[in-house]
Amino acid sequence: ALEKRIKDLEERQQHYPEVKFLSYKDRKRILVTGGAGFVGSHLVDRLMLQGHEVIVADNFFTGRKRNIEHWIGHENFELINHDIVNPLYIEVDQIYHLASPASPPHYMYNPVKTIKVNSIGTINMLGLARRVRARLLFASTSEVYGDPEVHPQKESYFGNVNSFGPRACYDESKRVAEAMCYAYAQQEGIAIRIARIFNTYGPRMHMNDGRVVSNFVLQALQNEPITIYGSGKQTRSFQYVSDLVDGLIALMNSNYSMPMNLGNPDEYRIEQFASIIRDLIGSKASLQYTDAVVDDPKQRRPDITLAETWLNWTPRVSLSEGLNKTIEYFRNELHVKHHSERN
Ligand code: NAD
Ligand code: UDP
Ligand code: UDP
Repeated sequence: ALEKRIKDLEERQQHYPEVKFLSYKDRKRILVTGGAGFVGSHLVDRLMLQGHEVIVADNFFTGRKRNIEHWIGHENFELINHDIVNPLYIEVDQIYHLASPASPPHYMYNPVKTIKVNSIGTINMLGLARRVRARLLFASTSEVYGDPEVHPQKESYFGNVNSFGPRACYDESKRVAEAMCYAYAQQEGIAIRIARIFNTYGPRMHMNDGRVVSNFVLQALQNEPITIYGSGKQTRSFQYVSDLVDGLIALMNSNYSMPMNLGNPDEYRIEQFASIIRDLIGSKASLQYTDAVVDDPKQRRPDITLAETWLNWTPRVSLSEGLNKTIEYFRNELHVKHHSERN
């Protein structure tokens, strides 16, 4: 099995995806922290295809080498096994700072570490940006709005966050990271970009991620009960990952330096979302209502007027199209898992 894997990899590396040739002056050195994760790896693919030099710094807490292994060995690509809580001294033009656990089970697994990653980790990246005069984009989140009392959420809304609860380690450390970006921009003249990312899904989400899309798809595929937390009346709006990547790159290269929402305003009740997934798969899974989780936001939908006007960006992938691709991915993952368990 190992020999076959080595052979597969060697073959793949002889046929790298077609990378655009950029002249020296157009080619940038770009750091992606968290680049081995779900969103990061799709971003890396796009930047590599555009012909940039890409450096990934990741400690593989939730990221995986196989998300980016198709680039290993490519002359424009470098992978550094690095925990962002420690300083990093390299030379770059742009920094996409995505390193942070992202799903509630992952960020609650070690709340102290989650706080360190977003606070100390972000200070380190801002310090790096300051030293080399790089532009930094911070991956913030719709969680900065907490359990919102304003609907849909505009960037001007200050949010309704509980500072003392199980979600606080994530929400509050993302908020302090935004404040740090603001302070470095004002005091040190650093060029910063803040993307407030709303629920995003797609291939390469972690199987044990615990977020709603991966849970529901995996449960439906295996005809296991679909676990709905609470009444199922709470809402979320789901964005496909390629739309987010378009938005992140457009935002980075724009001249807008205040927080900007990136999300798809297509909003669903969670129980309705469960039925949609079950029907797309044609699954016989039942719906199982369980206890609500603490401080679960009751509604969430982005107002994306700002991104539409400043970036001329709008999400393009429909829910059914995005879900079908995601379902295919998880079907294949289950197949691989099943086979490796038998061997
Ligand atoms: P993910 O868990 O797949 O990716 C996070 C990556 O960061 C992983 O590769 C992980 O190994 C790495 N990482 C974690 N701690 C690290 C550390 N200390 N040092 C170095 N690397 C570290 O999650 P994702 O969904 O791809 O999220 C990426 C970013 O986008 C996160 O900052 C997250 O907060 C933000 N975000 C995501 C969503 C979403 O719906 N996916 C929504 C809002 C915000
Ligand atoms: N830092 C880093 N890489 C660099 C420059 C700085 O990781 O290339 C880290 C360093 O650990 C420091 C932090 O970024 O603690 C903040 O740097 P800054 O220069 O703003 O502050 P100072 O070094 O004065 O604390
Ligand atoms: N959720 C659910 N069942 C699951 C996972 C999540 O009902 O198996 C609900 C969760 O309570 C929340 C919504 O789905 O209301 C989105 O949860 P997720 O963890 O994906 O992201 P969040 O937006 O809460 O960060």
